[in-house]
Amino acid sequence: MTLIEDARKGEVDGFIKKAAEYEGIEVEKFLRLIAHGYLVLPKNVRREDVKPRAIGMFASTKVNANVGTSIDYVNAEEEIEKAIVAQKAGADAVMDLSSGGNLDEIRKKIMAVTEVPFGTVPIYQAARDCSRVVDMGEDDFFRVVEKQAKDGVDFMTIHSGVNWISVERLKRSGRLLGVVSRGGAIIIGWMLHNEKENPYYKDFDYLLEILKEYDVTISLGDAFRPGCIHDAGDRAKYTEFVILGELVEKCRQTGVQCMVEGPGHVPLDQIETSVRAMKSVTDNAPLYLLGPLVTDIAAGYDHIAAAIGAAIAGMAGADFICYVTPSEHLALPTVEDVREGVIAAKIAAHAVDLIKDGQRERARLKDYEMSLARKNLEWEKQFELSIDPEKAREIYSRRKSKSEACSMCGDLCAIKLVKEAFERN
Ligand code: SF4
Repeated sequence: MTLIEDARKGEVDGFIKKAAEYEGIEVEKFLRLIAHGYLVLPKNVRREDVKPRAIGMFASTKVNANVGTSIDYVNAEEEIEKAIVAQKAGADAVMDLSSGGNLDEIRKKIMAVTEVPFGTVPIYQAARDCSRVVDMGEDDFFRVVEKQAKDGVDFMTIHSGVNWISVERLKRSGRLLGVVSRGGAIIIGWMLHNEKENPYYKDFDYLLEILKEYDVTISLGDAFRPGCIHDAGDRAKYTEFVILGELVEKCRQTGVQCMVEGPGHVPLDQIETSVRAMKSVTDNAPLYLLGPLVTDIAAGYDHIAAAIGAAIAGMAGADFICYVTPSEHLALPTVEDVREGVIAAKIAAHAVDLIKDGQRERARLKDYEMSLARKNLEWEKQFELSIDPEKAREIYSRRKSKSEACSMCGDLCAIKLVKEAFERN
C-alpha cells in the first residue's frame, strides 16, 4: 500500500502524524489532502529516517536544493558538503543531479547525509550509461528508475509530458532558446533520432507500476519550461501543461503521489496566469517551480531574480520552490553559492507563507517576535529569529555600536529615542 492509498483508507501512522504536526494541520484534514493528491509527502518505502516534508495545499512553502557533479567537475566530497550546508540553511529537499563520476556511488553518499526527502532525475543516469544518448534502449529508461527506486530515492523528476504532440508544438513555437531542460533535451533528442514516442509517455502505466512498488513520488518534469523571457507562455509550454494534467489523473488513479513542475523564465505580468493555469489543468496538484526568473540579465545574481519570481508564483499558488544559485547560467555552484541560493529561496518561501492559507498565523508570529526583539534591541533574539542567523550576527558584529543599538544610527536610534521619550512622559 502506498501512502496515498493509506490516506484514502484513513490509516494514520507516526510519519503522517509527525508531518501533520510539523505543518500545524489537523490529522484528518491532512489525510484528506493527501488522499485527493493536493498534498504530497515524499518518502520511499525503503528509507527509514526521512524528515516529513509535506508539499502542497495549506502546507508551508518548501525549498529544494539541487546538488551534484557535472561532467567537468567531479568532486563527490564537495557535493556531499553542499547537501549538508543546504539542509543547515533550511532546504526541505535535496536533489542529486550528478552527471559526472560514478553516479551510483555519488548518489548513495549524498543520500546518506540527506535527512529530508531526496530526489533525482533518472534520465541523466540512463543517458550517461550509454556511449551516445540516442543509443539508449527503451528498457534503459525504466531500468534506471527501478534501480534508483530500489536504492531509496523519495521523488523523481520524469519528463512524461514530452510526446509527439508537444514536440510538434515546439517545432512551430519560434522559440529563441528552444529547450533548456536537460532531461527534456535528452528525451527529445532520443525521440527525433529514433523516430519513436517517449517511453515515459507511451509506457506511463509501466512507469507508475515501478514507482508504486517503492512508493516513489513522481515530479512530472517541465521539459518545455521557457529558458528566457522571450519564450515565456508559448503554446509548447501550455500544451505540456495539458498533457501533465492528464498524467496527474493517472497517477492519482494508480495510487502514486505526484507533483508537477513549472517554468522557468517568466516576466512578472505572466507569472500569476501561468501558475493559475497549471493549477487548473492539473486539478491543484502540488506545483514545483524552477524559478521563475523574472529577467534574463541578472547573471551572478540569478538567485535574486528567481526569489522575486518565486514569491509572486507562491502568492498565486506555487508550493515548492527549486532554489537558484548565483552561479546559475555560469558554472557549477560552489558550497557558498548553494547556501546563498537556499537562503534567497527561503526568504521567498516565508514571504509566501505570511499570506498562505493554513500558514499565515504561524508565519506572522515569527515576524511579530522579530519586531518585538527589534523594539527591545535584543540582538541575540534577532539573530536566532533570522532566516540566516550566522550572517545577521556577522554583520552586526563587524561594525558594533558603542551604544546598545546598532551602528547604523548609534545613540540616535529611532526606536530607542521614541521608547525613552514615551517612558519619560
Ligand atoms: S540604530 Fe537605527 S538601524 Fe539600528 S536598530 Fe536603531 S533605528 Fe534601527
